[in-house]
Amino acid sequence: MKHQNHQSLLAADRAHIIHPYLPGSAEERVIMTSGEGCRLTDSEGRGYLDATGGLWLAQVGHGREDLADVAHEQMKKLEYFTSFWEFSNEPAIQLATRLAELAPDPLNHVYFTSGGSEGNEAAIKMARYYHHRRGDTDRTWILARDKAYHGIGYGGGSATGFPVYHEGFAPMMPHVSHLTPPWPYRTELYGGEDPCDFLIRELEERIAEIGAGNIAAMIGEPIMGVGGMLVPPDDYWPRVRETLDRHGILLIFDEVVTAYGRVGEWFAAQHFGVTPDIIVTAKGITSGYVPLGALMVADHVAEVLLRDHGFPMGYTYNGHPVATAVALANLDVIDKEGLLGRAKTIGATLHSELQSQLGDLAIVGEIRSVGMMLAVELVADRTTRTPLPLHADRMPHDVIRRETGVIVRDSAHSLVLSPPLIMTEGETKEVASALRGVLERTDASGKIREA
Ligand code: PMP
Repeated sequence: MKHQNHQSLLAADRAHIIHPYLPGSAEERVIMTSGEGCRLTDSEGRGYLDATGGLWLAQVGHGREDLADVAHEQMKKLEYFTSFWEFSNEPAIQLATRLAELAPDPLNHVYFTSGGSEGNEAAIKMARYYHHRRGDTDRTWILARDKAYHGIGYGGGSATGFPVYHEGFAPMMPHVSHLTPPWPYRTELYGGEDPCDFLIRELEERIAEIGAGNIAAMIGEPIMGVGGMLVPPDDYWPRVRETLDRHGILLIFDEVVTAYGRVGEWFAAQHFGVTPDIIVTAKGITSGYVPLGALMVADHVAEVLLRDHGFPMGYTYNGHPVATAVALANLDVIDKEGLLGRAKTIGATLHSELQSQLGDLAIVGEIRSVGMMLAVELVADRTTRTPLPLHADRMPHDVIRRETGVIVRDSAHSLVLSPPLIMTEGETKEVASALRGVLERTDASGKIREA
């Protein structure tokens, strides 16, 4: 049913909301009004299939009344009090205890935030502060990678490896150095060398250039999301960890997307068999029902941060009781409904659906996935692997949504998918055939024929 006030909502949105990445001249709006499972409905009564999980976070799906009830009950009991100083609250304590159980040892300490950008700011500051408190005051540099996305702050934003995110915001934070990303499909990045050998050699060389004694930490998404679901070779992270350890450099995993079941484990650290010093999480911790982030901090780091007067930095919403109560309930759903296992099985189903429906298309270069993080990389030519030219006014993901109601996202010449972990087999077919319907009409110049 069309909302009676659709036209006035549209006008008010255009008049008052600054949308990220939307030109002021853009006419189109999709005003979502309700959701259930993987389905959404907008103010015109149109239905959508959510194959991006909102912004890669709707692990348990939309419209769960049990999570709404938990928020309601907690708000009635204690809606908020600070977690600064000696103050604490029950849901925050219970959630921290649970997270310490789920994370690999020795990641037993939790620092709460309201989201991923705040989390990365906190992680970078923690890494510098850790060294500072130990008397290693020159360790200020942060290693990151091209194609990384670490949020909108000046710390995480500077570690972000897309020049377009820096343009017009200069000066960015100094003492950040970007390395080549692990992207095995793009063999040209490694000049014929084994990608992992190349990347580890580059890391060693960069450490030597900057000086190990000047470097605080390396930050990286275990699988790069915004970069296009870039999955590193299996031995990449263990070899990075070993290299950093030899030089006393901390490893920060930005698991804002990959944690809480997205890759079939609680943390991608477990998938790759490495233990970072700090893991930054957000998004899936509440499946997006309320904003929350949590840093998992290793014992040896926490011990230093907590010395003397303690860690001198906090957010108003650190350990928010409603957010942490909802997170606990969300983790219960992930657990009880077996969504870690489901991410692997339904992710494999979606992958093979995409493979069978798109595999023959000349513009499909590679389909890759881990669990429920998937990408279809688009090329003009499969042999040269030249990226498919894109036309801002008619992008494949926009056409797919307008024509079929299936929501996917574009990321660096790839279509990326991160659906709710509860997606059904029937829905995976629907997603794949929506992509097929548009991509089979897309030529090597990126032009999409009318249906
Ligand atoms: N890190 C990563 C890897 C992300 O993908 C994102 C958001 N997409 C962020 C950090 C920023 O998180 P937030 O938008 O919650 O600030």
